[in-house]
Amino acid sequence: MINSESQDKVAYKNFFFQKSVKRKKTADKDKNSYLGRIMRIVNISFGRFPEISYLNPRFKPRSLKLKLVLDVFLPKEKKSISFPQIYGKLKKILPTLDKHKCCVGLLYGSFSYSNESDAPIKQVGGVTDIAHLIEHMIIDLEASISHMPTCSGITCGYKRPEVRFDLFIECKDRSVARFASNFSVFLMNHLFSGKSLSPRYFDLVSLAKYLYKDRSLILCPEKIASDLGWKVSYTRKRIKELLNFKYLTKDELNPSDSVKEAKNE
Ligand SMILES: [Zn+2]
Repeated sequence: MINSESQDKVAYKNFFFQKSVKRKKTADKDKNSYLGRIMRIVNISFGRFPEISYLNPRFKPRSLKLKLVLDVFLPKEKKSISFPQIYGKLKKILPTLDKHKCCVGLLYGSFSYSNESDAPIKQVGGVTDIAHLIEHMIIDLEASISHMPTCSGITCGYKRPEVRFDLFIECKDRSVARFASNFSVFLMNHLFSGKSLSPRYFDLVSLAKYLYKDRSLILCPEKIASDLGWKVSYTRKRIKELLNFKYLTKDELNPSDSVKEAKNE
């Protein structure tokens, strides 16, 4: 787990910037455990991270940020990544990706409700493009679900291990940021495994937006189904998926269970 109070240092790759950050030593795990997935989440944490704030001038002063530590692997059978192809598929789920601004030279991006949609996401090549695309997906999901007028982030690659990246992204709601992280990584792994993106993933984003206004409505799947024009059984399955992606908690879904546990303590 990366901790700004630890004594060991790691340097990010210098094509991003020359800044070092403090972190604990982590072992480079057996790559066999990543077979079948192009990426995995190493850690999710939250903070203001003043040591990196100056790297993206669009970061709001002292804004709360998600820090996502990510390992990205290019499967051996894939000699290159077709970025336009992956991007094109993701746009069906996240159509507002086209509205992002992306800085030339440094890999930082931001979203704001503007009409400047000429240059979406820059590329530098290799797995870095995939980590960077995850940053934009998270920005997009957070901005649309939690109604953020602007949201900015930055992708930082490690020198060692080369497969590791730190993504810092402004956030308003931690549960939305957790969902955005888990869901984005899931979508990317899903795409790289050769599967197509089901329309139900689009519905999952719609449900996350719907519940953001009033999370207690998860206890009324019939009302959600009626409001969204879905079947109740379909709605229950999507609610369960939001639990798996850490947008919802078990206690929220089964409040009576948590009351029972509290009484038994
Ligand atoms: Zn960018």
